[in-house]
Amino acid sequence: MTPAGERAVARLRELIEVARTIVPFTGAGISTECGIPDFRSPGGIWTKYRPIQFEDFVASQEMRDESWRRRLAMDAQFSTARPGRGHLALAGLHRAGKVPAVITQNIDNLHQASGIPDAAVVELHGNTTYAICLDCARRYELGWVRERFGAAGQSPDCEDCGGYIKTATISFGQAMPEGPMRRAEALTLSCDLFLAIGSSLVVWPAAGFPLMAKRNGAKLVILNRDATEFDDVADLVIHEDIGSVLAPFIAH
Ligand SMILES: [Zn+2]
Repeated sequence: MTPAGERAVARLRELIEVARTIVPFTGAGISTECGIPDFRSPGGIWTKYRPIQFEDFVASQEMRDESWRRRLAMDAQFSTARPGRGHLALAGLHRAGKVPAVITQNIDNLHQASGIPDAAVVELHGNTTYAICLDCARRYELGWVRERFGAAGQSPDCEDCGGYIKTATISFGQAMPEGPMRRAEALTLSCDLFLAIGSSLVVWPAAGFPLMAKRNGAKLVILNRDATEFDDVADLVIHEDIGSVLAPFIAH
């Protein structure tokens, strides 16, 4: 790390030590060292394939099949990914009682895998490691979907109600989930230190949270590989490798 990076880590340590309630807000950058691609980055999957809109998913079997083919093709990446240094550092702060919950834009389940309970992970874009019925919300595992897809030649519907089965993610064209949005707002307003980690902070409305925290009097730290449009208002900005910056905060 650069000398400026070392100084930034020291400053981050001070901010974390004096904070009573820390709320981390995480984006793709915390998971890239885990082998999870940043879908929106240049070369990411969404620049290669046009994303499937929610209305298209529910409108045709063909689009549901295509959506599931893409998801199942990526399953090796998701199912073998393990938490990175950033996830482990945040899990330690959670165990220490400093972090009541993590707000995340990620769908990779890695905060839960790092030991933070489900109830303390607020997922704004859902979770891609399992599926649900869009009508009755019954949960399905991806292995079951793969088996049925293979056997029938098309993606399966709900065994209980015939509804469409989709990964538990928020797709393009799908409304932001109300419950998680409300919880994220309440958390943001409850903290005295807001850590924006690995998010380019461009996807609204999620990107509104750092500013909300700052206006509410919290200190704002932005840790991201690239500059963001909120760097000017942050109390501390760190443009370094996320895992390297957070590694010293992993509790041993
Ligand atoms: Zn159902």
